[in-house]
Amino acid sequence: MDQELRELYQEVILDHNKSPRNFREMEDSTQDSEGYNPLCGDTIHIYLKINDGIVTDVSFQGSGCAISKASASLMTSAVKGKTKEEAEVVFKNFLDLITGNLGENPNTDKLGKLAVFAGVQEFPVRVKCASLAWHTMKAALDEKETKVTTE
Ligand code: ZN
Repeated sequence: MDQELRELYQEVILDHNKSPRNFREMEDSTQDSEGYNPLCGDTIHIYLKINDGIVTDVSFQGSGCAISKASASLMTSAVKGKTKEEAEVVFKNFLDLITGNLGENPNTDKLGKLAVFAGVQEFPVRVKCASLAWHTMKAALDEKETKVTTE
């Protein structure tokens, strides 16, 4: 990862950790899911409000490391206003990015701000922190009853 992206990564993580977006409970959610990353101790609760197949609102609660929190914060911004199908595409692209499936120098145009997470692929333990909110969001989308765990 080049220096510029590395610095941007630090900046985005710090910013979203300090002031996470959509960090609240949602009383009128249509579906929700809980996730747990035993390796790091991150816990998360994702709330979705879906109307006519569109994610009209998304929020999260929980506690965990800076990476899990920043990733959740960015996830909420990334899927809000998207259709369920579009949200699934973003989910897939993000997972491909952080697990290295897009290669070392991925084309990150489609990913916008999420691109800063490209560096996470160098740290396998952190991949679980970064992906927790996303797996949990996907479970909520699919209305899965079971709790999500990264193990
Ligand atoms: Zn973590």
